[in-house]
Amino acid sequence: MSRNRLSKKVQEIEPSGIRKFFDLILGRKDIVSLGVGEPDFPVPWKIREEMIYALEKGYTSYTSNIGLYELRKEISNYYRKFGVECKAEDIIITTGVSEAVDLALRAIVDEGDTVLIPDPSYVSYKPLTILAGGNPILVPTLPDFKLNYEKIAQYAKNTSPKALIINYPANPTGVSYRKKELEEIADAVIEFDMLVISDEIYAELTYPFDHTSIASLNGMEDKCIVMNGFSKAFAMTGLRIGYVIAPSDIVSAMLKIHQYSMLCAPITSQIGALEALRNAEEDLEKMKAKYMRRRNFFVKKLRKFFDVKMPDGAFYVFPDIRNTGLNSEEFAENLLVKKGVAVVPGNAFGECGEGFIRCSYAVGMEKLKEAVDRIEDFLKSR
Ligand code: PLP
Repeated sequence: MSRNRLSKKVQEIEPSGIRKFFDLILGRKDIVSLGVGEPDFPVPWKIREEMIYALEKGYTSYTSNIGLYELRKEISNYYRKFGVECKAEDIIITTGVSEAVDLALRAIVDEGDTVLIPDPSYVSYKPLTILAGGNPILVPTLPDFKLNYEKIAQYAKNTSPKALIINYPANPTGVSYRKKELEEIADAVIEFDMLVISDEIYAELTYPFDHTSIASLNGMEDKCIVMNGFSKAFAMTGLRIGYVIAPSDIVSAMLKIHQYSMLCAPITSQIGALEALRNAEEDLEKMKAKYMRRRNFFVKKLRKFFDVKMPDGAFYVFPDIRNTGLNSEEFAENLLVKKGVAVVPGNAFGECGEGFIRCSYAVGMEKLKEAVDRIEDFLKSR
């Protein structure tokens, strides 16, 4: 028998449940997709213009591994708004938060180390933990989809975890945390001596209160690996640009991996990101206002059919579809095949997502209205 070509670790992980599902609709023209977590707005024009100038001037080289100093400096100023004091030296520019999650896990996890991950949560945390050699332990967040001291302690008690991953506002549920709630999570982090990987990619899209970073809380300064990026707030998904803020020993460790595996983030995108932080706040606010209007409209409509929590942030609604008698996959597949509306089954984000679906409202109002009508038709025709 020939030798197995693939590593055990890669065989252990599954392809993303989101992408797998969307292969079903390739080529169909009648689809209203509430499936992908991607802003429907173009990159604000002034950011594109700055990148075009940069290309015209021939700025197409590598940058330093860690990223452009001006951009890191700007991020250190910017992150004060979320309560965090950091220096340019504490920041690495990455190719999106995706790379930042991978770097953080590979920098801190030894073979067999436990990493606590909320269930449900963003699809990359568990597979990237496995690839880093870690042992992902999923912490159920039902019924409110939030972590708190008790839920963390229950799983931390016997597993001495190396780290806890949190993401707020959260994909797929839209929940976020006020400062008081973060303080409770921080208590557990200190008691069980963990590091925190804090994915704050939706920070700017927090609606009912201001986003606070867990890294801003007392006792957390040396324990947090904060990551954020430009994909969601500035609609820059394809430009692949993000960053990570961490204590200096962890920055050095992550930088070793980044310099060999990525070298640096694309210079054009770094220049665009700098413009975003310096001059695109108004564009961001306009997009945020539109998301908020869509959220309010969509939740109100969906509440006619389902139990739906009002999301605090991001651009997802996570309705409870258990009253239909269908499971998440049956619901999503039937809705897609019969009415051409694409949503993501909640179980793609973990077992606790079963009985829910994720609908993105990063689509125009017309499409959202059409989706609501089709969902209503779907439910009536059953
Ligand atoms: N983290 C979360 C919670 C996300 O929802 C996403 C994208 O959907 C990412 C990270 C990836 O972001 P990026 O485009 O910066 O790699």
